[in-house]
This record gives sequence, C-alpha cells and structure tokens, in this order.
Amino acid sequence: MKTQKMRKFLLHTAREMNACGLNQGTAGNISVWVENGFLITPSALPYVECTEEDMVLVKADGTFEGIRKPSSEWRLHRDLYLNHPQSRAVLHAHSPWCTTLACLERDIPAFHYMVAMAGGDHIPCTAYRPFGSQELSDSIVKTMGPLRACLMGHHGMICHTVSPDALLPLAIEVESLARIYVQMLQINPEPPLLSPEDMREVLERFATYKP
Ligand SMILES: [Zn+2]
Repeated sequence: MKTQKMRKFLLHTAREMNACGLNQGTAGNISVWVENGFLITPSALPYVECTEEDMVLVKADGTFEGIRKPSSEWRLHRDLYLNHPQSRAVLHAHSPWCTTLACLERDIPAFHYMVAMAGGDHIPCTAYRPFGSQELSDSIVKTMGPLRACLMGHHGMICHTVSPDALLPLAIEVESLARIYVQMLQINPEPPLLSPEDMREVLERFATYKP
C-alpha cells in the first residue's frame, strides 16, 4: 500500500482500537510497514485529535520524519519488524483483560483452541521491563519467538501480523481469550487444558485454513 493510504489506515485503526475498548487514551500505539520504514502513531496525542499527517515515519536506524515525535515504544515496533521480516503491522495496547493477566505475570495457556491464533500452544508473558526501553523490546522479541502475540509483564499486550487488516482482529481475539481465562480462574484456579496433540492439530489446520 502507498504511504498516504497507510496513514489513513493507521489513524482509522488507532481510533477503532480505542472505540472497541481495547485501549484507553494515548496509552497504546500501532504501526504499519511502508516502503522506507514504518508509520507509527505519535507520542501523547489523542487519536481523535490526530490527522493523517500526525502519523510519524520511522526508519530502521530510529531517525524519524514528520511534525510529531513517534510513540515512545517505537523500538518494540522496529525490532518486531526486524525479527519478523514478513510482518507488516504491529499493535501494542493496555487492554484491560490482557493487562490483568500481565500484572499477575501469567501466560495464557491452551485452555481454548483459538489460543493457536497467536501461532503457538500458549501466549507467553514477559518479565517486567521499563516502558520505552531497549530492554523491554529485547525481552519481547525473545519471549515471543516465532509467535504473533504476547503479554508484557505489568504493562499490556503486543501483537503483529503479516496482513495489516488482520491486526485489530488478532488483538481483539487475544483480549477476548484473556477475559475468558480470567473468568475461568474465578471458578477453577486450575482449569483443564487442551493437550499438546490437540493444539498441534489446530495449528496445522490454521496454517492451511481459508475462510
Ligand atoms: Zn504501553
């Protein structure tokens, strides 16, 4: 997609992220890959007040162009693109249910087959690292490995997708799984889980699934 079209897409997706309750205020950030780097939402500017021109172009070396400063979490986005060369979009949010589990330092285990949407048999949680730091980015890249989503200890969640259109749906799915898991824990602190074989079969089917 051309850069101008991506600016429009990014702003629309950022507003949708807040409208659907996935994020509050200016806490989260979203980016999309473009020809010469990535476009990311600006630092500390409410999405309702943003225009397409407020989206910031960041290059791989961390230099940026535009009238605004990039989100303080731009390193997370850069490093996920570097480690997942096919990915084209990244979303980070302080979504309430994922953040609940992240503050408890809990992974999301294989309690439901849709956990495989994130690319594995669980959705891991990183250790706490300071916001905006390279340490945080390194920790996420390492914990996430080949997966498409993880929880960030005492912070929130992050996910990335090959198709920009798949970004918000994946984030919504992970948040929904987190909500159901928290609800389950209130009834049974040790809920039953699917087996590694069950999850392997789901992952194989997802790999070839065409809706
Ligand atoms: Zn954050």
